[in-house]
Amino acid sequence: MKKIAACHCGAVEIEVAGFPTVVTECNCSLCRSYGVIWAYYDADDVRSLPEAALTATYAWNGRHVDFHRCRACGCVTHWMPRDASRTRRGINARLFPVEVLAAARVRHLDGADTGTYLD
Ligand SMILES: [Zn+2]
Repeated sequence: MKKIAACHCGAVEIEVAGFPTVVTECNCSLCRSYGVIWAYYDADDVRSLPEAALTATYAWNGRHVDFHRCRACGCVTHWMPRDASRTRRGINARLFPVEVLAAARVRHLDGADTGTYLD
């Protein structure tokens, strides 16, 4: 079975090597506003990303990372560093099948202040 995160309208699909068992809810101003919960992956474990034309992006705070959202339905789908040598990616875990997030451990990241996990 393919392991896919899909936006609400289905235009954007991201295939990963495995569903996350640990996810991160960050309280920084952007993540809090988006309401996203991140699953972090190495680039090698993200099997497919959407074509650039399908998403719009937003960047802030130094603009090192682009936050992608579906152009049609607006769901935030993932973030990617602009520097190609940085291999970490964040996928919006809310876009996986509902039982994946229900089973995952949610960790709380204090991105707003200390940058460390609160649990
Ligand atoms: Zn969509």
